[in-house]
Amino acid sequence: MEIRYQSTRGSGEAVTASQAILKGLADDGGLFVPTSIPKLSASLEDIAKMNYQETAYEVMKQFLTDFTEEELKNCINRAYDDKFDTKEIVPLVEKDGAYYLELFHGATIAFKDMALSILPHLLTTSAKKNQISNQIVILTATSGDTGKAALAGFADVEGTSIIVFYPKNGVSRIQERQMVTQKGANTSVVGITGNFDDAQSGVKAMFNNKELAKVMNEKGYQFSSANSINIGRLVPQVVYYVYSYTRLLAQGAVQNGEAVNFVVPTGNFGNILAAFYAKNMGVPIGKLICASNDNKVLYDFFETGVYDKNREFILTTSPSMDILISSNLERLIYKIAGEDAKATAGMMAALTDSGKYSITDDMKAQMKDFVGGWASEEKTAAEIKRVYEEAGYVMDTHTAVASAVYHEYKEKTKDTAKTVIASTASPYKFATSVMTAIDKKYEGMDDFVLIDELSKTSGTKIPNAVEEIRSAAVLHDTVCDTADMQKTVEKILGL
Ligand SMILES: *Cc1c(COP(=O)(O)O)cnc(C)c1O
Repeated sequence: MEIRYQSTRGSGEAVTASQAILKGLADDGGLFVPTSIPKLSASLEDIAKMNYQETAYEVMKQFLTDFTEEELKNCINRAYDDKFDTKEIVPLVEKDGAYYLELFHGATIAFKDMALSILPHLLTTSAKKNQISNQIVILTATSGDTGKAALAGFADVEGTSIIVFYPKNGVSRIQERQMVTQKGANTSVVGITGNFDDAQSGVKAMFNNKELAKVMNEKGYQFSSANSINIGRLVPQVVYYVYSYTRLLAQGAVQNGEAVNFVVPTGNFGNILAAFYAKNMGVPIGKLICASNDNKVLYDFFETGVYDKNREFILTTSPSMDILISSNLERLIYKIAGEDAKATAGMMAALTDSGKYSITDDMKAQMKDFVGGWASEEKTAAEIKRVYEEAGYVMDTHTAVASAVYHEYKEKTKDTAKTVIASTASPYKFATSVMTAIDKKYEGMDDFVLIDELSKTSGTKIPNAVEEIRSAAVLHDTVCDTADMQKTVEKILGL
């Protein structure tokens, strides 16, 4: 069955998967959603016998129906190769009464690699399929991890260039170093004086600027997005939910059909939305537990049915979740509104105008598989220490938010279903916060000293991605005001 993609805000024709990947965002500012979420065509038992790459093909072919088998397998094989430091690609580690799905074994040691190592290939394949001759300019706002993963994915990919904006004071030192040392003649990295939401709004404004698009087209450029709003990001993320369930099945940890809960540390709502899509494809998933840090706008939304971003923006030790506008939530809103684009557009307009919207009781009833939870900074740090001391497992701050939320959920509900916790970053990426959580004596110590300490404490090898940046030269030092983002892009592209 052919799957097409239409805007959550309704206007415009449905487009093919490759067109949706190329455009990133729909013309009316909405997000592309599949006309229906396809079912898996192979049985879970059969998928349990497949490796990661084969599973990826099984899942992605259902969504990207205008890609040929050869095209899609090509993209998959170029993405999930020895850039990952383990053949399994995403190991499932059983510790402390749960399964940690380690999504951080790619080139930049964060889960963004899962999608961003394949997106450049999906995008260049899509350009070829649609006879695009313009150079594709990837414009991205990052709260830390997307930026580096996108830069690594797109660096020196022919026919593309990439410009990344990040909040100058809103990412970890390691995250910043990873980005500003990025090689590749087609890469640009810019710090802005605002926060992540400012960066994201600035990028969205440029995408929606028809005048700018015209000038770019005249010069042989067009924008595309590597942010998690691109369906080329979302679809590859569905894969590891199917994969992890079928690994549990293969191990005999679950019977076929037995529901498994997933806990996802959430920011932009992309990762957990992929789990929701996996459930809709036929994977037996029980609860989808959405874990937030102090920026608990999503927790409040699941509790009350009111999404309200009018609140203080809090910088935490899990910066990739410091987000008040979770863009991908729009796709869930559209689904639970009965695919009513007009209603969705209305709520998103309210969000823009007043910073809030509320959903109907009917819509709320359709979210019953979602559970919201949140963990304070103190709880997050305590969870890192507890799991290290009790199970000898060292996790990063984002994963710790999810882990803390899970244990509170389990205590409260007595739900004993097998549970998978999405582990979204390597602890090495947040070594300072992780080591200080384990022992206060590390406070104020140098990042790289703590990286060595972390290796000793956890008994794991320092990943290449970290070793590399110890001595790498800074290649990007541009900083601009939020208001000057477009000017900066024009300068970079020579418009
Ligand atoms: C991006 C990110 C998240 C949040 O994922 P979303 O898809 O934006 O909800 C969580 N943890 C880490 C480490 C991340 O990089």
